[in-house]
Amino acid sequence: MKLYNTLTKKVEEFIPRNKNEVSLYTCGPTVYNFAHIGNLRTYISEDVLEKGLKFLGYDVKRVMNITDVGHIVGDADYGEDKMSVAAKREKKSSYEIAKYYTDCFFADCDKLNIRKPDVVSNATDNINMYIKIISKLLDDGYAYIADGNVYFDTTKYDKYYELSGRNSDDLMIAVREDIEKDDSKRNPFDFGLWFTNSKFANQELQWDSPWGKGYPGWHIECSGISIKNLGEYLDIHCGAEDAIFPHHTNEIAQSEAYLGHKWCNYWLHLGFLNDETGKMSKSKGEFLTVSLLESKGYNPLSYRYLCLNSYYHNQLNFSYEILNGAQNAYNKLKNKVSKLNKGEVDNSKYNEYIEKFSSAIEDDLNTSNMITLVYDVLKDDNLTDETKYAIIEKFDEVLSLDLTKVTKNDELVSDKHDYIMSKIEERNEAKKNKDFKLADEIRDNLAKEGIILIDSREGTTYKLEV
Ligand SMILES: [Zn+2]
Repeated sequence: MKLYNTLTKKVEEFIPRNKNEVSLYTCGPTVYNFAHIGNLRTYISEDVLEKGLKFLGYDVKRVMNITDVGHIVGDADYGEDKMSVAAKREKKSSYEIAKYYTDCFFADCDKLNIRKPDVVSNATDNINMYIKIISKLLDDGYAYIADGNVYFDTTKYDKYYELSGRNSDDLMIAVREDIEKDDSKRNPFDFGLWFTNSKFANQELQWDSPWGKGYPGWHIECSGISIKNLGEYLDIHCGAEDAIFPHHTNEIAQSEAYLGHKWCNYWLHLGFLNDETGKMSKSKGEFLTVSLLESKGYNPLSYRYLCLNSYYHNQLNFSYEILNGAQNAYNKLKNKVSKLNKGEVDNSKYNEYIEKFSSAIEDDLNTSNMITLVYDVLKDDNLTDETKYAIIEKFDEVLSLDLTKVTKNDELVSDKHDYIMSKIEERNEAKKNKDFKLADEIRDNLAKEGIILIDSREGTTYKLEV
């Protein structure tokens, strides 16, 4: 299998340390707010990676953290803890905030058919592990104490700039705004491992430690949780592309300084989702959540379908127009598959396609080719309907688009999709001709059949009353 490795900046043959076993660590969410669909694109890609590896016969153990403490506003080492800010905003405790948004996160994952990792661990449940690592880093001279906080000395780790591929001057310019405020550090890129001297009196979550009561930095949690659950050697570490620096850079530095050897061989980074203003974020533009898409009549799986049509490493542009296209294509695809039946399978043809699909996975997780193969199967006149069904059912172990799962709603969708789309066209035409009476009539007649049209700036979609 080939994968794009950020560490070497090239597509490389993936060779796990133990033959068939793959240890996979994926950074989890900071649970201070809902996830937006840009965040969720990362988890969709990671889900396909995990399922793709399993499809190829690997035994995968996947671990993910939940950041419920220590992630500081500004993403660098100053500012207030994001959890504390949310707790204040919503007048709840940090624990309540974490619990609520963790549940929301997994509910969204469910809707997108993202499998829950084998191990999900809260940052706050591993304090002893961080203390163990930090103590050793201090003993070995990789860390120092200043103004009550423990910092990692980045000048002691010689490969500090390897992952980002940038030199210190370059980085300095890129993150200038983020690093100027902590005078306790010896070097600008040094980062906090443990804080006892919080500048914010309302830091709610604190634990005893050899350095006083305090709380861990954000980066230490991923090293701690990974090493605790997956051991000293990690095959693949994933995260969004903005985690390369500082988060993953710091994870590598502290892990390898602690372990005394190379930690992880393959670093995979997932591209952003961009809206018209650039990288999607929680603080600007419309806050796009799965629930918002649902309220506008979109099936979350058509968003998954949209993501799978692009290469994970690239950025992906989002607009409602693009999503409308994806939803229509997805509905049509399901409609076609729903006409196939389970039955006797032509094994040689079946294996031929499974091989092609495996090649697409091996080709740096080429999801758009995987989708193309679904269409190829449907078009192939040499295949019986029963064989087509069996192949697509197998592909769906990785795609997870519910292609062969027909729910009550899908049954109606597949029967009525083309009809509804033609009615929407007719209505658009009527509106264009300013025949609003006819347009309303079309809408009302559909409503009587249990088909609810949803108009938004982005066009018209529909929902079915089941
Ligand atoms: Zn992480």
